[in-house]
Amino acid sequence: MRITGVEPLILRAPLGAARFLSSQSAFPERNSLLLRIETDEGLVGWGEGGQYGPPEPVAACIQAVLAPQILGRDPRQPVRIQELLYALTRDFGQKGAYVEAISAIDIALWDLTGQALGEPVHRLLGGAFRDRVHAYATGCYYRPEHQHDAAGQLPALADEARSYVDAGFDTIKMKVGLLAIADDGARVACVREAIGAQTRLLADANHAYNAYSALRMGRILEAHDVLWFEEPVLPEDLDGYRLLRQSLDVAIAGGECEFMRYGFRRLFEQGCVDIAQPDLCAAGGLSEWVKIHALASSFGIATIPHVWGSGVALAAALHALAATPPFPYTALPQPLMNEPLIEFDRNPNPLRDELLVTPPRLVDGCLPVPRGPGLGIQVDEQTLQRYRQPDLLPG
Ligand SMILES: [Mg+2]
Repeated sequence: MRITGVEPLILRAPLGAARFLSSQSAFPERNSLLLRIETDEGLVGWGEGGQYGPPEPVAACIQAVLAPQILGRDPRQPVRIQELLYALTRDFGQKGAYVEAISAIDIALWDLTGQALGEPVHRLLGGAFRDRVHAYATGCYYRPEHQHDAAGQLPALADEARSYVDAGFDTIKMKVGLLAIADDGARVACVREAIGAQTRLLADANHAYNAYSALRMGRILEAHDVLWFEEPVLPEDLDGYRLLRQSLDVAIAGGECEFMRYGFRRLFEQGCVDIAQPDLCAAGGLSEWVKIHALASSFGIATIPHVWGSGVALAAALHALAATPPFPYTALPQPLMNEPLIEFDRNPNPLRDELLVTPPRLVDGCLPVPRGPGLGIQVDEQTLQRYRQPDLLPG
């Protein structure tokens, strides 16, 4: 079997009035860099790469540099090709767009390998510990409708948080970091009251703070029984991470802006995080996930991936998490304590909800792991064409 086509596809879905904000940026649209790899035997593999920035640089890395390296190769060797592409781009890559591009290729090759063998990716990764993964809702971003009422309450934010509980989630992640600490503390109090004491609450700052501000925010989070504090400080601020981890009881999570096992090694060695959050579509793909997870476990650190993007990204993460052992093993594993979670973004995103013929659906608070060969997904061509942007480079 040979690779005959490597096609990056830029998708954009404008959100209009449904736009929302984190501490770092506004989201007027959702976009994805999808990758389609075709073979001479008619199989088509799907990947996704890049999650945070514009998709064009990732598409350019694939189109101009990486695609010529893999055309004509047998796709049934994802680990070998991932290592080769990383080695070829090391001098100018290592982090960012090149690794995101390699991630997309890697995921598509695992999809093709699974399809060629008639086996789902989670079986190729060593076998499934579970056929569904406990999901947490990512939401409660900053929205224009989150205004105080006459009584000083935040009814729209409370309603949003409650809607996740009503949908079956028992774990919710909210944003902090955009507002002054007291105002964000009021938002955390509002969400905690809305969801009740039994629902697990997580908070994500998207590296909005310096260490001393994060420490103040962390103490507020602890007062509201928040279970993890995600990206409290800049990804480069390893000393800040370590200080917070030593000073706070809340678990420190991070890593969505980190790349490859080499990047995560620094986080682990320097005692920065309790929970590592590599993104499969950014940190090096499924091949690298296995290595980052192994490294994390040797440090006693849990690995719960960051998931953003389309249904392709979600499917890749579900296969990875299906094959992730309970950590640590117990006779009765509990979500978050020792069972992995899947991040299920609840912000508007047609690329997540419409792109797959069978989109991911929550069942009893869990997402089922796809069972078909490869990623076990089918991309809806009509939806693809609806959101597809013109090609970056002609020809
Ligand atoms: Mg995050």
